Amino acid sequence: MKDTKLETRAAELTPVKTVYLRDYRVPDFLFDQVELNFDLGEEETIVKSRIHVRRNPEAQTGAAAPLVLQGEELALEAVAINQQQLSPADYQVTDDSLTLFKVPEHFELQIQVRIKPQENKALSGLYRSGEHFCTQCESQGFRRITYFLDRPDVLSSFTTTITASEARYPILLSNGNPVASGKLAGGRHWVRWEDPFKKPGYLFALVAGDFDLLEDQFKTCSGRTVALRIYVEKGYREQSHHAMQAVKKAMTWDEENYGREYDLDIYMLVGMSDFNMGAMENKGLNIFNTKTLLASPETATDDDFIYVESVIAHEYFHNWTGNRITCRDWFQLSIKEGLTIFRDQSFTEDTTAKTVARIRDVNALRVRQFPEDAGPLAHSVRPESYERIDNFYTSTVYNKGAEVARMLRTILGAQQFRQAMDLYFKRYDGQAVTIEEFVKVMEDVSQLDLTQFRLWYSQAGTPLLTVNEAYDAHQKTYTLTFEQTCPPSPGQPTKKPMFIPVKMGLLNPSGQELPLEWEGSPVSTPVKEAVLHIQKPKQEVVFKNLDVHPIPSLLRGFSAPIKMNFDYSDPALATLFQSDTDQFNRWEAGQKLSERCLLRLITAYQQKQPLHLSDEISTLWESALRQGPEDKFLLSQMLSLPSERYLAELLPVIDVDAIHAAREFMALELAKKLNSLWLQTYQALHDPQAPYRYTVEEIGQRQLKNLSLYYLMLLPEQVDLGLAQFTAALTQNMTDTIGALRCLNNLDHPARQLALDQFYTTWQQQPLIVDKWLALQASSKRASTLSEVKKLTRHPAFDLKNPNKVYSLIGSFAQQNMHRFHAPQGEGYVFLRECVLQLDQFNPIVAARMVKPLVEWRRYEAKRQYLMREQLELILQHPKLSQDVQELVTKSLQEE
Ligand SMILES: [Zn+2]
Repeated sequence: MKDTKLETRAAELTPVKTVYLRDYRVPDFLFDQVELNFDLGEEETIVKSRIHVRRNPEAQTGAAAPLVLQGEELALEAVAINQQQLSPADYQVTDDSLTLFKVPEHFELQIQVRIKPQENKALSGLYRSGEHFCTQCESQGFRRITYFLDRPDVLSSFTTTITASEARYPILLSNGNPVASGKLAGGRHWVRWEDPFKKPGYLFALVAGDFDLLEDQFKTCSGRTVALRIYVEKGYREQSHHAMQAVKKAMTWDEENYGREYDLDIYMLVGMSDFNMGAMENKGLNIFNTKTLLASPETATDDDFIYVESVIAHEYFHNWTGNRITCRDWFQLSIKEGLTIFRDQSFTEDTTAKTVARIRDVNALRVRQFPEDAGPLAHSVRPESYERIDNFYTSTVYNKGAEVARMLRTILGAQQFRQAMDLYFKRYDGQAVTIEEFVKVMEDVSQLDLTQFRLWYSQAGTPLLTVNEAYDAHQKTYTLTFEQTCPPSPGQPTKKPMFIPVKMGLLNPSGQELPLEWEGSPVSTPVKEAVLHIQKPKQEVVFKNLDVHPIPSLLRGFSAPIKMNFDYSDPALATLFQSDTDQFNRWEAGQKLSERCLLRLITAYQQKQPLHLSDEISTLWESALRQGPEDKFLLSQMLSLPSERYLAELLPVIDVDAIHAAREFMALELAKKLNSLWLQTYQALHDPQAPYRYTVEEIGQRQLKNLSLYYLMLLPEQVDLGLAQFTAALTQNMTDTIGALRCLNNLDHPARQLALDQFYTTWQQQPLIVDKWLALQASSKRASTLSEVKKLTRHPAFDLKNPNKVYSLIGSFAQQNMHRFHAPQGEGYVFLRECVLQLDQFNPIVAARMVKPLVEWRRYEAKRQYLMREQLELILQHPKLSQDVQELVTKSLQEE
């Protein structure tokens, strides 16, 4: 069916230019050296640049090709070539470019522009955040600072001089090392920074203002001393100690695991409260959203502590995978993001709890990337085309990209993978590279043919692996048959078979591991764990010398980003849950059992049958609580139910109400059946006097304790328990405060408002904690949630111009609270459309992120489809829609 209304509207929108990977050409010109001069003022800023330009000897255009620079929202004041001012006849200025018609082979280009950072609410380029100046240049923000060849394959050494009022901006920062400074008349001062490492414009940064400073130092593996500086807004110094520890941990880890040493004399981190992203890896001057930098026991939860550590590690690791070696073009984004996510995930596995870290990453992949890969915005890890690159900072490029790097390590083995990484750093240091070049080093070192493996970068969609078994008692053989398929995705109707590494083991019925011997095994002696290379559409593996029918433990550690079907019996899953040596698969087996119960409950709900939960799962959970793994962190994951979002992925048509009813019912049943055990566990782990310590063991204890509290508080008689924990923890321990408040937040009980009010009164001066307060209310299961969210948009604590506030309130509601967002009459959709259109007026990047829940409209039943689609069409009818939002909405409405 074609929608005529849509067609006529689409024709009136601004045509959006599609960029194709196949059109890549090397730059016509190279910028060897760039000198920048910023004069920061209260009304406007003057930016002067002096660039050493030469024609690229490898350029595919002729010697007469003009120099075309990108630039947006700039007021051009002067252009000169070799000190000669150009007249307007020598160049052409458009909304997004400056073209110089006749230029020599080598020359010095000087440009002067005026910009207005104070009016920049898109938070891209140079902007004001409170009393500070700050930049965000990835991916295309540098062109909002001055005219430039704003592409990642133009690498230059930068010298930056910043001039500003000394009283208002005592601290002036840019990339590299500070080399000179001085004072000027009128209370102004200047500082010059020199970055010896060549970099593209997207890694440029500037920060100016008055900050609190936390200093430390780090001695690198070669004995050099690096000054470490964390700049935070006034009053937040005490909340940045955890970040400082994290920096040192990350620097040590990268030396030990990848042989990477830090290269400048100084490494700076700055926290900003107005920031679109989580953080940005600008060379030597990383800028963080305060959310990813600040943490102290009374203000941050365990999860915040872990998150801060992982983001700091991520940005630090970029210094080599992203900065020293960057991407050639934005289609190769995963060469820096997928790889760096893989590195930070490995860091978190090594420094916190290995299995729990993996479980969380896999959960995130399943609830974010899998739906993306199955929807209208599905794209490969290396996309073939884009309209707005801002829209491709996706879970696919980041998280699936990380899984692809992880698979390479699984296939090559840790040792060869490290050798390949060493070669990668050696071969490409100082260059802008492609994914192909990355895969090539893996091939060169391992001597493996990775031709088929490359499909992971070019083919979208989540492969489905169906596994069947056959045991032959007479021959003592056990055959596993693997069959793979991959669903069609936009632009890719048919798929080729992929190279899927399946890490596995076999258990006997009492849970002991069996030795593996099979035809084609690379080793002659039996092993306990193997990585099978599944490469054909259908492939058989025959295991020998097995006296019993084994239980397979497949896809250990989630060794490939796929969906897998194997028809386990319930007792087999129970054995894996209790005994598998692979801790990830223990958790996975438990999830599978819960999933089965939940799917039965969903069907019963849909058929209007009474809901009933058998005793098997509670018996299993009971034994886990009594004698499960020592690791309480892991145990808390094993006793958590799959999320609503995860369950949604299992259904052909998402039935929001049935999913919610089934999950709530099962949780309540488990709360009742194990009531005394939850209470016992809670009491054994709860000590309101104990000071907070950030250790893996104590995190595990708090997690399990707060999980027990969650089940207990599903029963009305336990409200006081939660209230008591809340009151005792409120100014001491944010993990326990939130643990209790999260439960109170779902109740229709006066204690809820009481606690929320007290929380706000206590913490209203701390924006990040107010964000938690907003997010909690937006994710409440109560029926009045939408009207409360609307009311909160008018609360003084809310600010649509601050991305963190938007993510906390509107994002939590639309992305986390499925049940309330998908209200049957579509009120949630109307609310989101209104928010998106308001945001789009000044911050298209954030608006495009917010519109995503509507984009998945096809997954719902007819009525909700209609209601969601209606809002998408209204968005498209808006006269001044940004290209960011337009791209996503148009793609989601396109015929399949
Ligand atoms: Zn990154």
